[in-house]
Amino acid sequence: MLSPVRLVSEAAELAARRHNGMARKSRGNEPYINHLAEVANLLAAATEGADAELVAAGWLHDAIEDTDTTREELAHKFSERVASLVTECTDDMSLPKPERRRRQVIDAPKKSAGARLIKIADKISNIGARIHSDPTAEECDDLMDYTGWAEQVVAGCRGENSWLDTTFDDTVLTARTSL
Ligand code: ZN
Repeated sequence: MLSPVRLVSEAAELAARRHNGMARKSRGNEPYINHLAEVANLLAAATEGADAELVAAGWLHDAIEDTDTTREELAHKFSERVASLVTECTDDMSLPKPERRRRQVIDAPKKSAGARLIKIADKISNIGARIHSDPTAEECDDLMDYTGWAEQVVAGCRGENSWLDTTFDDTVLTARTSL
């Protein structure tokens, strides 16, 4: 098992390589790695740096869904728990988007505590990226639509970490105020 610092560092490097060249859809097409860094950092802050596997899984949470990374590879390189956290945060991309969204709401309460924290951090980052200072009508619709769905997912993830719950609520408030 890697030391905590190495675990997080190796995860950040693998994430940077695997998501290389990818951009986020929102906020000026910033590099995708910014999203992963934000999610990992939220998890580190929420747990006061006490859970390196959770932070590593934060860096890697989209790796199986969006890149050619496999669960086996993550289990081998990191740990069984990192691999299982990332797998829990991976949507079945063969399903249409409305069905994937529906399943996230239904499945959220069944997830492990760690996976629920990753889901909340992910939604905080994704809502934040959709907040614009002078939004177009399309950006307002997208923000309202995404935030409404994220609230349903997070309703099933709450109660594990009050700082993360509050940060999510603050982000939703900022989003609604920006409209
Ligand atoms: Zn994500």
